[in-house]
Amino acid sequence: MIWEEFRTPPKFGCELPGPKGPGFRRPDEMKKKHKQPWGVFLAIALAIAFGSTVGDKGTIFGVTFYSIVDVLGTIFLNALTLVVVPLVSSSIITGIARIGGDGGFGRVGAKTFAFYIGTSLIAIFIGLFFVNILHPGAAQAMIPGNGIDPEQVAALKERLTHQEGKVLLNVLLQIVPSNVINAFSQGQMLGLIFFSLLFGYAVSKIEKGPSETVQSFFQGVFQSMIRITHVVLKFLPYGVFCLVSKVFMTTGISSLQSVTLFTCAVLLGLGTFFFIGLPLLLKFVGGVNPLYHFKAMGPALITAFSTSSSSATLPVTIDCVEKRAGVSNRICSLVVPLGTSINMSGSALYECVAAMFVAQAYGIEISLATQFLIVFLSLIASIGVAGIPSASLVAILLILRVLGLPAEGIGLFLAVDRLLDMCRTTVNVFSDSCCAVLVARTEGEKKVLSKDPAELEE
Ligand code: ASP
Repeated sequence: MIWEEFRTPPKFGCELPGPKGPGFRRPDEMKKKHKQPWGVFLAIALAIAFGSTVGDKGTIFGVTFYSIVDVLGTIFLNALTLVVVPLVSSSIITGIARIGGDGGFGRVGAKTFAFYIGTSLIAIFIGLFFVNILHPGAAQAMIPGNGIDPEQVAALKERLTHQEGKVLLNVLLQIVPSNVINAFSQGQMLGLIFFSLLFGYAVSKIEKGPSETVQSFFQGVFQSMIRITHVVLKFLPYGVFCLVSKVFMTTGISSLQSVTLFTCAVLLGLGTFFFIGLPLLLKFVGGVNPLYHFKAMGPALITAFSTSSSSATLPVTIDCVEKRAGVSNRICSLVVPLGTSINMSGSALYECVAAMFVAQAYGIEISLATQFLIVFLSLIASIGVAGIPSASLVAILLILRVLGLPAEGIGLFLAVDRLLDMCRTTVNVFSDSCCAVLVARTEGEKKVLSKDPAELEE
């Protein structure tokens, strides 16, 4: 795989990995490695046809097709969830330790964090706006016999609409666990994320020798988890087939309406953030021409769209931000690689819309307080998302778990996940690059986007 080779970013003043350097792969080689979308698209088409034809009563050897795909789909979900705890914690620990180690928690580090969090929050609120306007899950909730267990829904409604105060307090309590091993073993994600942030910070502050040992240990854990995730994702077309056909077995093609609305909500949200939100920030906070920045980032955006992996796109992103947008290596080598591991604005927007969609599909009217909880969870979960294809599925499982919503809810939108992944990855990469420009400009770098990058090509 490619991403782990780029996980360790160039230090200040270093060059990008050279074309002959160990493990370096050019973007065109990377593309060859990402053939999977077609398998996934085929699986979706087959699942829709198979699910709507067979229905939930069709049997083979006395067993319903429904229970077969249900079991296989659950195994796939379990395999995805398997890596959540080590993947998220090692990703955060190495990311935070790195920024601290690079002398980062100073002014530039603080600014970088502020822009990461600010842009992600803007993205999430835009997503929240569209999911509330379009209400995509409502169509799913109204399909008769939609496979959603009424008792389970009643319990969820009670929990999320009448006891939201309790849910919020519980979430607050989970943030600081009294026993970190318990938090890890029970998969309490908030406690795990809080501890990982703290641990990463501490690792960056201890003596160099032990600090490097701990960092390289967690780097190894991260790379191994990515590899396991990659193995699991090899089965993505089969997992998608089972989970999507299960949905269509119970609802027939009526599910297409809610999935289409969901896609519209995500695309409108991503589009608004990409074409309006970020350009406004570039113009008014950075004082640069947004059009120049779109031109500068062209190659990285295309790579992100075709690979669905912001980590695999990292070398191209760094190249565009430094050479085409003119951001100094000092800022670029801190903001862009770190952003690739912890700043996922497009994914954060997607996770928020997805969690709201699942809740709506279960017929739950989400109160304002719970919506804020979802915003918070999306922000936190996006920090732990790895920059690889379909990584948000893991984060969404995490959010659903905290809210008490069933994990199989992701089957409702899995049919469009891959397509939306291409779009949100493009937004993630663009957002990282905008943060680099904003940090550089507010640090007084005058050269940034001072010329039309198209002139560079002449
Ligand atoms: N594919 C995304 C990325 O690499 C992560 C996600 O699944 O949202 O940035």
